[in-house]
This record gives sequence, C-alpha cells and structure tokens, in this order.
Amino acid sequence: MLVTGGAGFIGSHACVELLDHGYEVIVVDDYTNSSPQVLARVERVAGRFVGAVYELDIRDRRSLSAVFERHSVDAVMHFAALKSPSASLKSPVPYYDTNVGGTTALLRAMHEHGVHRLVFSSTCAVYGDAGPGLLDESTPAAPAAPYGTSKWISEQILADVCRHCPDCTVLCLRYANPAGAHPSGMLGEVPSDVPDNLLPYVAQVAVGRRERLRIFGGDYPTPDGTAIRDYIHVMDTVEAHRVALDHLADAPGMRVFNIGLGQGSSVLDVVAVFSAACGRQVPYEIAPRRPGDVASLVADASAVSRAWGWRPTRDLGDVCRDAWRFQQLNPRGYREDGEGYRAAGHDGQPPA
Ligand code: UDP
Repeated sequence: MLVTGGAGFIGSHACVELLDHGYEVIVVDDYTNSSPQVLARVERVAGRFVGAVYELDIRDRRSLSAVFERHSVDAVMHFAALKSPSASLKSPVPYYDTNVGGTTALLRAMHEHGVHRLVFSSTCAVYGDAGPGLLDESTPAAPAAPYGTSKWISEQILADVCRHCPDCTVLCLRYANPAGAHPSGMLGEVPSDVPDNLLPYVAQVAVGRRERLRIFGGDYPTPDGTAIRDYIHVMDTVEAHRVALDHLADAPGMRVFNIGLGQGSSVLDVVAVFSAACGRQVPYEIAPRRPGDVASLVADASAVSRAWGWRPTRDLGDVCRDAWRFQQLNPRGYREDGEGYRAAGHDGQPPA
C-alpha cells in the first residue's frame, strides 16, 4: 500500500491502522506540514516497521515513478495535500499546483505502472455554504475557498479518468472535520505553524502555549452564533479508509462517500467539551468571522453505513479527550519526542 502524505495528521494515523491490519506500507511525504519523527512514532505505536519512506514531492514525477518501480504497489491512499481554506484564499495557486497537480502526477505514475486502485482524500468543503441541514453526497458542489475547489477539480479528474479507464476504481472520501488523536497519546495533530484548525488551537491554549482562543464569528445564524462543524475522530476517519480497501472492488469506476459523524457542534460546544476534558475553562474571545468559513457544515454520513455497514463509534468527547492527552504528553509537538511523553513513563524506545 502506498500512502502519500503518510507523515501528516490523517496519513500517520492511517499508516498505523494499515500496519495494525497487516498491510505493507510505503510512505511518500515531503514534510511540508509534518516531520520525519512522526514515522518513528507510527512504528512504535504499531509495533511494526513501515516498509520504506521516501522524502519527495508528489509533483516530482521522476522520483515518484522510481517508487513505483522499486515496490510492487497494489493500491494507493492519497493524503498529500495543502489543507487550509483560509490560506488558500490568500494564496490559491499553490493549492491548485499541489492538490490538483499532485493528483495528476500521482495518477500518471499509477497509470504507467498498472496501478488502478485509489482511495482519495476529499472534503465536505466541496459543498461550500450549503445551509444548516445534513449534506449528503448529492449536494451540489459550491466550494467557498480554493482549497475546496482544488479537491472538487481533483474529484472530477478522477471521475473522468475512471470513465475512460475500465480498470480504475476510486473511492473518494469526503471528510467532515477529522480531529482528535491516537488513544496512545503518541500521534496527533501537530501543525508546523500557528494552528489553523480549531482542535489543535484549543489544545495549545489549554496547555498554556497560547493565551486564548479567538472564535471566528459570533454572529452566524446558528443557535449560539458560532459556526457549526461535524468533528469526526481521526481514528474513525482512518478506519473508514481501511474498510474502503475491502470495498474498492465492489463496483467499477468512482464512488463518493461522506465520512462524518452526522452531528453538528458549534465552536462554543467544542470549547465546553474540551474544557471538561482538560478540567479547566479554555479562555476565548469572539473575533470577526474568518474569510472562506461557512456557517454550518454537517455531513450526512448514512450512505457509507448503508454501503459498508460501517459507522463511526467515537464522539466529540472522545475527540477532545484524545486531543488533550496528546497535547499534554507532547506539549511541544514531536520535537525531541516530547518531554511530557517521557515524563509519563514512556522510555522513548522502539517496540520490542
Ligand atoms: N475556528 C475558530 N478559531 C480558530 C480556528 C478555527 O473559531 O482558531 C473555527 C472556524 O472558524 C470554524 C471552526 O472553528 O468555524 C472549524 O475550523 P477548522 O479550521 O478546524 O475547520 P474548517 O474551517 O476547515 O471547517
């Protein structure tokens, strides 16, 4: 199994899930928003080694092709991408370059080496500002930022490739808001800069690295005025990917599924649940809305349950509890394996 972006937040958890289920895992990552230490953690959590790791940009076709030549790859999970809607508004071109260009470079390498099975990391951000209800897969795409557009364009390319290539099978998984951490506290979300996403920001406030959360918008048309999202645990998210592999062969062509909890939580809900998890009130202030944000985005995740009999089992309490454990054990992220990690009795050695 080739995992692009395997050192990233979702990719690293996916590697553990795959190793735990007996898959051989090959990783490519350019460490844009991650670090090599992550993969050492992956191996310790799983108690198995990743087959090979290549530091490369997926747009580098020659290097990517060499990976396919060296390994017999039977399927690909494609996570490598830029992922901030607000950053994509300020600087759209890298989003198209990396997310669309990266996907076509990968497709080309796959095609040249006869690999036709792909699980693609997409996003419910393709729906844009579609309103307060549950959004199913037939909701028309209207992304609010270039990030969502880059994923929507990639989906259309994949669909078209599948139309013309009878051997190709693609599962596009449109995630709601993956969050949380591995229950071991060894893997989590470590942004290389100021966190853009809500959960890592809240966690850094809770651990004292930042003074207070700025809640972007208190005047949305929602019950408490703050924006609503569907926070799905990262472990459920990667479980869905692993289950997807068993269903790639169910039907030819491309299929699209939402991966979410199907329950909305406001930013204030997250603050309350996180505060309960960490045992202290997370300080916050209401700030202006963030450009590119929408009022509500909650996935109707029933199609995947009907198709595969799979559904998420963790809730927002689990997301906050696990994110807090990770933050406590790794107050400075993966740097030096975290003082807190050792203080909690872990010796920092690979598994026996
Ligand atoms: N959010 C916030 N303060 C932050 C980060 C995020 O109020 O420091 C809000 C953001 O405006 C959105 C929600 O939290 O309403 C989820 O944001 P995130 O960036 O995690 O996900 P996305 O915007 O991609 O749904």
